[in-house]
Amino acid sequence: MSGHADPRRAECDVLIVGGGIVGLWCRALLERQGFSVILVEKEALGSGQSVASQGILHAGLKYLLAGDDDGAPRSLADEHGRWLERLAGRGWPDLSTTRVLSEKLVMWTTPSLASRATGWLASPMMRSRVRRLDDNARPEAFRSAPRGVGVWEVDEPAVDARSLIEQVAMCGHGPIHLGVPAADAIHESKEGAEVDVDCAGERIRVLAQCVVLAAGGGNAVLLQRIGVNTSEVCQDRPLHMVIARGADAPVFGHCVRPSMKPRMTITSGLDGGDVVWYIGGAIAEPPGTDRTRDEQIQAAREELDACLPWLRTADLELDTLRISRAEGRTGAGGRPEGPVVYSRGRVVAVWPTKLAMAPSAAEQVLARIAPIAANPVPGRADEMEGLPAPPLADPVWRWSPQT
Ligand SMILES: Cc1cc2nc3c(=O)[nH]c(=O)nc-3n(C[C@H](O)[C@H](O)[C@H](O)COP(=O)(O)OP(=O)(O)OC[C@H]3O[C@@H](n4cnc5c(N)ncnc54)[C@H](O)[C@@H]3O)c2cc1C
Repeated sequence: MSGHADPRRAECDVLIVGGGIVGLWCRALLERQGFSVILVEKEALGSGQSVASQGILHAGLKYLLAGDDDGAPRSLADEHGRWLERLAGRGWPDLSTTRVLSEKLVMWTTPSLASRATGWLASPMMRSRVRRLDDNARPEAFRSAPRGVGVWEVDEPAVDARSLIEQVAMCGHGPIHLGVPAADAIHESKEGAEVDVDCAGERIRVLAQCVVLAAGGGNAVLLQRIGVNTSEVCQDRPLHMVIARGADAPVFGHCVRPSMKPRMTITSGLDGGDVVWYIGGAIAEPPGTDRTRDEQIQAAREELDACLPWLRTADLELDTLRISRAEGRTGAGGRPEGPVVYSRGRVVAVWPTKLAMAPSAAEQVLARIAPIAANPVPGRADEMEGLPAPPLADPVWRWSPQT
């Protein structure tokens, strides 16, 4: 271990590294099963991908839109009902104070695609999942859309990812500290895994039965330190998202083309009193990831004009955000079908793939941990006095500007 003299010591059944959705969900679930848990987060809760997500609790439609009716839609569809129960305060965990920004999403077409899209959406595969909206039932942003622009409603909610993170954090009770595993990270022995953690200038030596790496894009470095060839285990898929300030009305939905990835997926929030659109979908994927910020802003202006021509978009203030999806590795480098869990010795690493899949990711982590930490001791993880707790991450539109 390092040369720090006499570090403070702490003990727990499970040390979780990373306070995004999956680290916090694992903490709540493992504590519920009687494990004592310490969680360390290097910056702010949700500051990786979770608060930067679009907050859509997918039921699988996104994959059907891309003509991709694989395992992901089924696992998401199963989980979807449970999410609705949790948001309504029924079922575990109680997420009733999570802010639901929109209970449904819309799908809309550009006028030129309307007739093709109508046939496609009426197909047996789609029609049970979408409902065409009459003009007067459309959300405000679509009321002045010209005839020929089809608008359908989809039973998938969008939540405020910050409030979700905040609430999942409140579902656990063990210590959460601002800290990172030191460079000479994890040492395994018969007694457990010993991890030196740097917390606000102090080094703490944590003895845990098991270590869960839930650090998103940070998992790769931590795994490399214990000799894992991460090119076989995990991957990053970059995105170049767009943030638009000054919109007249919120939008929650996908601008769709038959059997293709949505052209744009827009969710919305408030910055002060201003409506902010957060824009992903095809525009944020390659080749958008190769564009400079200015090129991406230009491309987004053209897409907004094409997708929402009836709205005043020319004077929106645009910015971009580069962020990668950290996932388990798939052979071809595409999106994994579900959560990915990797374990070696006392270390378990997890990538949920989607916010919406965090619950099943945590169940899989629990299944890996149970044989390693066979005799949990609830309440063993004491708060370490004087160590700061991480704040909650800011909304994504307050993150530092990027080039
Ligand atoms: C732009 C974007 C939009 C998305 N939209 C959706 C959506 O609408 N719906 C959906 O279901 N999914 C969505 N996703 C996917 C979803 O956000 C992720 O699958 C999920 O948030 C991953 O959660 P996580 O906890 O694994 O990682 P993260 O949220 O990245 O959390 C990891 C945490 O670990 C911390 N950390 C890193 N290294 C260390 C270290 N060494 N020590 C301590 N802490 C560390 C980080 O600071 C961070 O807080 C989106 C993803 C992106 C990028």
